[in-house]
Parts: sequence; structure tokens; C-alpha cells
Amino acid sequence: MKLSNSYIGLPEEFYQLVDPSPVKDPSLIIYNQDLAASLKINLEKEEVLKYFSGNEVPNGSVPIALNYAGHQFGNFVHQLGDGRAVLLGEISNKSGSYDVQLKGSGQTMFSRQGDGRSALGPVIREYILSEAMHHLGIPTSRALAAVATGEHVAREVFEPGGILTRVASSHLRVGTFEYFASRQQWQDVKLLADFAIQKHYPEIRESNNHYLELLKSVAKKQSILVSKWMSVGFIHGVMNTDNFTISGETIDYGPCAFLDEYHPGKVFSSIDQNGRYAFGNQPSIASWNLASLAGCLIAFIDKDSDKANELATEVLDNFSVDTNQRILDLMCTKIGIDGSNKSNQSLLRRFLKIMLDNESDYTITFRTLPKVLLEDSNEFFEQFHNKKELHLWLEEWKAAINAENNDINTLVGNLDQINPVYVPRNHQIQDVIDQAYNNDFSKMLEMVEVIKNPFNDKEEYFSYKEAPSDDQKVQRTFCGT
Ligand code: AMP
Ligand code: MG
Repeated sequence: MKLSNSYIGLPEEFYQLVDPSPVKDPSLIIYNQDLAASLKINLEKEEVLKYFSGNEVPNGSVPIALNYAGHQFGNFVHQLGDGRAVLLGEISNKSGSYDVQLKGSGQTMFSRQGDGRSALGPVIREYILSEAMHHLGIPTSRALAAVATGEHVAREVFEPGGILTRVASSHLRVGTFEYFASRQQWQDVKLLADFAIQKHYPEIRESNNHYLELLKSVAKKQSILVSKWMSVGFIHGVMNTDNFTISGETIDYGPCAFLDEYHPGKVFSSIDQNGRYAFGNQPSIASWNLASLAGCLIAFIDKDSDKANELATEVLDNFSVDTNQRILDLMCTKIGIDGSNKSNQSLLRRFLKIMLDNESDYTITFRTLPKVLLEDSNEFFEQFHNKKELHLWLEEWKAAINAENNDINTLVGNLDQINPVYVPRNHQIQDVIDQAYNNDFSKMLEMVEVIKNPFNDKEEYFSYKEAPSDDQKVQRTFCGT
């Protein structure tokens, strides 16, 4: 495992040099062989356990905790930072360079009141969710390994401890910029922006306004990301600026969840009491976060502050328009129609309204709708208790489909590769965690297999595609830190 560390070229205040703290009795729960192979990581089993429990630092690694600040639920917190994570280093393959980070690896100077550890539950959640997102084709950090520490952590009750090794193209966040901007350390903001450009958007170096282009590039990546979240019914749950990446990848799987029944106001997170990060708010929150980034970069966008404001505002306005259109395009594609056509857009909106009124399951509804083109699908019709409006809609939809497609079988086949059968639902993850707390990891290993092929319906995985019954429904999710 060849680790380098580009962050240590940055000034001291950007990070703390800190080793992971050893744990008592580590055991490996899962190691992601496919990801390891793609990163050309070739380790013996004992090495995997030593390195990814933090009990030994691999050769060449200079572990650091990164410094950052951030807006949490709209309020600025001037000091956050990696309080329970350390970056072992970066590893490169032909598609780029990736941070390898341990999460739950002990205290750092940024731990504040925290123990620097993680309970096993959130480690399992993040492993499954981040891998599921990857296989759904959504930009995300990935999970390389999960280890049980053999120690307990004090949360509301004592829970077994865990460490997740995650891989992301970087851990730079809007909050990293805010740390320096809020202290008016403009030289550091500039260094950070140049570092981010070098790392993620090297093509910007050719442009004549690097910092405006950086803002535009992050906006574009985040627009793609958030639209994809919306298309699969993913609720991040804590879109604070410290969890909002410069690379445009999903990170920090805390209280996130996939929708069961469709509702734009759906909130799972126990700490989101005002619904700031509700499902349907995600595009506008992304814009809010980008405005925070714009605030950090504004002085570098143009010397004339009016001009700089105008340019940054244009980026934010375009973000909202583009993201709206991207969501429409993706959602229309899910039902086999062209999203650039206004009457199709209204067809989509009406369908979503019918789903809302019927509390239809998001994943099952989109997956089974195309079947209606070939047969009377019970699975689909079960998602609606009031079928009158639905039938009227279906007639119009079929007419639109027939006007745009002459090979319905091919269309249905294509839609099956767009609408997943399997998303990791909360009640299933909870079940996996409950079993893991009884020392049985078989369910977790099975679920990790299921989410590897989210579009292929498999007889033996029947239970994973079912919506939760009322008593199985998870109403609240927790950060679990
Ligand atoms: P999160 O809500 O997970 O994004 O974390 C927000 C901040 O709290 C980050 O600075 C974390 O490093 C810190 N934090 C969360 N849990 C712990 C913990 N158990 N010990 C120390 N710091 C933590
Ligand atoms: Mg975070």
C-alpha cells in the first residue's frame, strides 16, 4: 500500500499530525476486496487488521486530522475538524488519487468533548449505504473495511465500538474554506483554493478566473450529485457545510436514509427538528451551502466587489435552474419520457402528486411502473389505494410512451437499469445492526452482496425489495456519534 500525503505540504494550521489510538481487541468484520484491488492495495489479512484498526501505522503513512469549521443547521461553528478520524494518506491509481481515512480511530486536537470513537452501528450503516450509493452510480466516499474494536463506547447506552476505513477523492469541504475565511486568513483561503483546483479541477488552471471557475465547478458537481440523490430518494440528513464536499461526492453518512413512501417533507434525522434537511429541501440547501463557499471566494473572484457579487450570484442562480432541470430530466427518464418537453414535465408532476396522495413507496413504484406497459402489475397497483386518478394518468402516460418509443420491450429493459429494485432501507439496516450487536454479521454480509447489484431482481433476495410494514418502519435516525 503506497501512501503519500499532499495535505502536509499545506501550512500547519490545516491539520494536526496525529496517530490513530490503538484498540484492545480488534476483529475484521469486512474487507472490500474489489475496492482494494481497484486501488492496487495488496495486504495480508493480519496487515488489514493492524492498519485498519489503527493499531499500526502503515509504512509511508503520515496520519493527520484535518482542520475545518462549518455551518451546522444554519449556525456557524468556528472550530470543528476531524475529531474522530485520521487520514492515513492518499493512494493513487489510474483514475486519480484517493484519501484513505480511518473513522472512529481515537481523539485528536479537534475532538472537543468527544471520545474520538464510533459505535459499531454507524460504521455498519456507513459501510452499507456508501457502497450502495456507489453501485447505484452516485458519487460517494467508499468503504474499504469495517473493524470491531473489542472496546465499548459510551453513548445513550454502552455500545460496541467500530472503525470504518473510508476512501474518498478528498475530504475538502466548504467548511474547510470557512475555517480560514471566517478568520480572514485570505492567504490560506487562496492556498486552499489552489490546492483544491490542483486536486479536483486541474483544467481550471487554463482559465482566466480560477476562483470563479472553482465555484462553478463545485456547483456543477454538487448539482449532479443532489439531482441523483433526488432520483433515488436519498435523504442525506445533515447537509451542514462541513459535510458538503468540494469534490462533489457524498460524505458523512450519519442519519441519512432512503425514502420508503414518497413525501417531499420527509425527515428522518432526530436532530433535524425544523426539517431543514427534508428530502425536497436538498436542492435549495445545496444552493445555500454553495453561497457559503461563494462568500469565502468572493474576494478573489473580482477586485471590484459589485462585479464579484454579480458573477457569484449568477453561478448560484444558474445552479438552481440547472439543478431543477437535471432533476426533471432524471425523474422523467425514470418513467421513460423526455424531460425537456413541458407536457412530459407536467405528466411527471402529476404522477408525483398521485404518489404523494397514495403514500406510494418510492422505489417500488418507479421500478414496477414500466411493467404496466406489458401486463397488469399487482406490485405496482398495490402502491395506490385511490386508483381513479391513477388510471386517467396511466392512459396519458402510455400515450406519451407510445409516441416516443416504438420498441416497448427494449424500453422496459432500459428502465430496469435505471430504477433500482434494491436500496438499503432503514428497517433492514436496523435489522443488520441488531444482529451484529449479537455478534452475528451474516446478515450484514448478505446485504452487502444485495446492494452490489441494485438493478437485478433476484428471487432469493425477495425480502430486500419489500417496503417496511407499519411496525417495521424506522421513523427516526441518529448520528450515532
Ligand atoms: P458529523 O456530524 O459526524 O459530521 O461531525 C461533526 C463534528 O463532530 C466533526 O468535527 C466530528 O469530528 C465531530 N465528532 C463527531 N463525533 C465525535 C466523537 N465521537 N468524538 C470526537 N469528535 C466527534
Ligand atoms: Mg462531518
